[in-house]
Amino acid sequence: MLDEHWIRSLHVESMRRADLHAEHDPHVLFQASTIGALLEGAYDGDLSFAELAEHGDLGLGTLNGLDGEMVALDGEFFRADVDGAVNRVAPGERTPFAVVTRFEPSVEASVEGRLSHAELLGRVDALVPAGTSSCALRLDGRFELVRARSVPAQRQPYRPLTEVIADQHVFELEDVAGTMLGFRFPAWVEGIEVAGYHLHFVSEDRRRGGHVLDSRSGGELRLAIDPSDDLHVELPPRIELADPDLAAETHAAIARAEGG
Ligand SMILES: [Zn+2]
Repeated sequence: MLDEHWIRSLHVESMRRADLHAEHDPHVLFQASTIGALLEGAYDGDLSFAELAEHGDLGLGTLNGLDGEMVALDGEFFRADVDGAVNRVAPGERTPFAVVTRFEPSVEASVEGRLSHAELLGRVDALVPAGTSSCALRLDGRFELVRARSVPAQRQPYRPLTEVIADQHVFELEDVAGTMLGFRFPAWVEGIEVAGYHLHFVSEDRRRGGHVLDSRSGGELRLAIDPSDDLHVELPPRIELADPDLAAETHAAIARAEGG
């Protein structure tokens, strides 16, 4: 569903590596490459985690070779391997796709009750300020269940993401304390980003995590939301923002947004 307000309010700016500068402003979402590029098998990026850390302290993504799911939390970068085991990412490792922000929430609330994942996201929706195009968020607390996935590292020649996802490992974390974090993007950014919610999880003991498929909250969660109207996309060589496979109206929407 195309929302005219979102189109006008989220400012997507693309830049090449030469123009890349650290974003110290809060409420700016910084993204390395696009989900469209990832879908086509562009699994090797040139951005190091040390560089990524200059753009934000909370976010998600993957690592070169699609080697697991990445979680950035409180300025620390973690990798959940194919079975959901979590380790720290070294600053010199690189990413083909990540989105981070300097997280400064303007909404904080507690979310109570045993909620399905859809119910939980409905509660979040209700707490996102009206007119917000995109937001970063984190949910801290105990979950009865987190169903998550991760993916095995790939070797060249790379297969498309849709084929790799067929090899994903799905695992369930039961009665687990931790943080679910990520972003909500409007529908029209499909191709640049994942539309809707994109959430990753890392346990409080930093031992388990992955890309969230489903959850059931166990009581009370602390929710923090950081609305944003600015998405800065750093495009690696050979990657274009305008994906020819995008639907015409989505393509037009991106063009209009870029034109301000
Ligand atoms: Zn993910």
